[in-house]
Amino acid sequence: MSGTVLVLNSGSSSLKYQLLQPDTGVSLAHGIVERIGEAASTATLTSGNEEIRRDGGIADHEAALRTAFDLFAEAGQHLDDLGLVAVGHRVVHGGQDLYRPTIVDDALIVKLTELAPLAPLHNPPAVLGIEVARRALPDVPHVAVFDTAFFHDLPAASATYAIDRDLASRWHIRRYGFHGTSHQYVSQQAAQFLETPIESLNQIVLHLGNGASASAIAGGRPVDTSMGLTPMEGLVMGTRSGDVDPGVLVYLWRTAGLGVEEIEAMLNRRSGMYGLSGEIDFRVVHQRIESGDEAAQLAYDVYIHRLRKYIGAYLAIMGHTDVVTFTAGVGENDARVRRDALTALAPLGIELDEHLNESPARGARRISADKSPTTVLVIPTNEELAIARACLTVI
Ligand code: AMP
Repeated sequence: MSGTVLVLNSGSSSLKYQLLQPDTGVSLAHGIVERIGEAASTATLTSGNEEIRRDGGIADHEAALRTAFDLFAEAGQHLDDLGLVAVGHRVVHGGQDLYRPTIVDDALIVKLTELAPLAPLHNPPAVLGIEVARRALPDVPHVAVFDTAFFHDLPAASATYAIDRDLASRWHIRRYGFHGTSHQYVSQQAAQFLETPIESLNQIVLHLGNGASASAIAGGRPVDTSMGLTPMEGLVMGTRSGDVDPGVLVYLWRTAGLGVEEIEAMLNRRSGMYGLSGEIDFRVVHQRIESGDEAAQLAYDVYIHRLRKYIGAYLAIMGHTDVVTFTAGVGENDARVRRDALTALAPLGIELDEHLNESPARGARRISADKSPTTVLVIPTNEELAIARACLTVI
C-alpha cells in the first residue's frame, strides 16, 4: 500500500480537506471549514455514513486546520496511525515556470508569493494553507499541485493573446488554463470507460461547477481551453463573468469611475449567474424559471448560449470529437443543462438519449443515443484523488 495522502484546498475563507489512499482511490474522510474568521464559521467532516459538524470559533486558517484534525480524530481517523506519506496542496496558478507537482520548500513559498498578482484571489490563501499545514505536519513532504499544469503545453495558437508581443512577454501574459487536474483526470477516465487508448480520442470536456471551463483534448493533449491568464475567461460561471469585451473594463474605469478593485470584484464575485439573476445554484435557477422569473431565464439562456458556442468552437478546432464529457456539480447533476447544451446537434454527430440523460444514476455513465457518432458521457470528477496521485510522482 502506498499510504495515505491528505489533500488540502485552501481558499480565502474556506479550507477543504480530504484524506485518501491514492492507490485504491478510497477516500477515508473529507470535509470543509467555511466562513473562516466569521462568527458563523462551520466545519464538517464526512467519514463513511457519519457526518460531524462544529459551529463557530474558527478564527483563522491555523484554527481551521486544527479543527479538521480534531474532526478526523473524532471520526477515528488519527493521522499518526494512517501512514500519511504526503500532504497535497491545490495551487491555482503556477505562472510560467511552475507546473509539475513540486515538493514545497521555503524557496517555493517565495515563488508562489511572487505569483500573487497573477491570481490575487487564489494564490495568497493557498500559500497561507501551505504554511499552516507545514507547521502542523513538519515531518511529511508537502507537495504543490498546480491547476494550470495540464495546460502548460497548450499549442501557441491557443495560448497566445493577440496583444502587443513585447508587453505580453515582459508580463508573462498568456492563456494558462485552469481546472487542469479535473480535465486531465476526466479525459483519462473517459478513455478508460470507452476502453479506447486516449491517444486515439478527440475529446471535449465540460467542467461545469461554480467555476466552469471547457477543454478540447486531442490524443490526451489539450489543444484549447476556455480559461486564460486568470480563471475568469470563458464560460459563464456561478459568480464570474467568463468572456467579456475588454473594452467593457476600460469603459467602466474611464466612464463609470470604477477602480481596479471594484472591477475585479464585480467580474469575480458579482457576475455570471449571480450577476444576472442573484442566484448561483442551478436547482434554484430552474425553480425560478418555472415560476416565470425573467432574470433567471435570461441568466440560463446566456449560460447555455456560451456553452454551445464553446462546444461548436472545439468541434471546429479538432474537426470532430469522439466524446463529450460533462463533469462537476452542474455537469454531473443537471440533466436540463446537458440537454440544452447539446440539443439539435445531431447534424454535428451529437445525439443524447433523453432517458439515459435523465436517469438519476451516479458514477461514470453514457448518456448518448446508440446511433450517436459522438459518445456523450457523465464522469464525476475527483480532483483530490488526482492531486494525491500527483503527489506520489514526486515524493
Ligand atoms: P461544484 O463547484 O462542482 O461543487 O458545483 C457546485 C454547483 O453545482 C452548485 O452551485 C449548483 O449550481 C450545482 N449543483 C449541485 N447539485 C446539483 C443538482 N442536483 N442539480 C443541479 N445543479 C446542481
